[in-house]
Amino acid sequence: MNSEKIISMQGISKQFVKQLDLAGKIAKYLGIRVSEETIHAVDGVNLDVYRGEVLGLVGESGCGKSTLGRIVSGLLHPSEGQILYRNRPFYELERKERLGIQMIFQDPMSSLDPRMRVRAIIAEGPQINGVRSASKLRAIVREMMNCVGLDPVLMQRYPHQFSGGQRQRIGIARALAVNPELLVCDESIAALDVSIQAQVINLFMELRKRFSLTYMFISHDLGVIEHISDRVAIMYLGRIVEVAPTMSLYKSPRHPYTQALLSGIPKLVARKRDHQPVKGEIPSPLAPPSGCHFHPRCPHTDEICKREVPQTKAIGSDRFVACHLTDTAIDFHSLPK
Ligand code: SF4
Repeated sequence: MNSEKIISMQGISKQFVKQLDLAGKIAKYLGIRVSEETIHAVDGVNLDVYRGEVLGLVGESGCGKSTLGRIVSGLLHPSEGQILYRNRPFYELERKERLGIQMIFQDPMSSLDPRMRVRAIIAEGPQINGVRSASKLRAIVREMMNCVGLDPVLMQRYPHQFSGGQRQRIGIARALAVNPELLVCDESIAALDVSIQAQVINLFMELRKRFSLTYMFISHDLGVIEHISDRVAIMYLGRIVEVAPTMSLYKSPRHPYTQALLSGIPKLVARKRDHQPVKGEIPSPLAPPSGCHFHPRCPHTDEICKREVPQTKAIGSDRFVACHLTDTAIDFHSLPK
């Protein structure tokens, strides 16, 4: 793996204040003390992305992975912490320099302006930011459409005249048009038919080679992540609980949450399961559990888990786990299930 960090997330947290609903507003109007609630979407994330890699970011819906992706892409400011992009604070960079990070969204229909022709959608980024000369815009649109497998003769059409898979290709062409080096893909294939998903994954991998791209691939789909990632980060209720090279993580998950998640993947060939699938619902980020956020669902909870936040510990040279059990080097496999 390349050791050059393209992104370094340092102590990233993000809170959102939940606005009062109508009942709350009325209560406040009547002089009843009501306070706005805070959603703890991301909680002290430290994570690096290395040049050329595909980093998979996995977790259940509502764990904060999309919020983290938006922070890395510059679409959201963190409440605390900072993002270093090529060792420089991201928010101190000029707009043009920030174009090196682009996001591919889940739903191409809502991320493409339905009133704009494809030609204008793809040309908009380079045109506004002046990253390519105006005289070359048409040629760039043609080139980008060819790169993503769309016929350039369709450039005068509108997004609704394309299929879901084609619209996602338009979104990818739009991102590529400003010469990015990191693509943050947020559930970018989740809305597509299964047959189309495979085609778009193949496209991502072709583009990786062709443009030397780095990916942060956000998904709840552990099968897809295993297929495309070099390393995987597991997120639970705003925190990263385990980071490891893909093969080691899937072969021997160390964090109880990772173990439970992987136990839930259906297999074509029945295999002995060492762990129980994760039970219950992810708790609300409005009131995350104390200590280790996973303790109400963890089969190995101890008193310390309810009191103290587990620190992230290195296991070997390339794995990190945040669990109190790693402090005492207990063999997870020997614990009661
Ligand atoms: Fe389970 Fe405790 Fe580890 Fe959290 S810190 S995952 S509750 S054993």
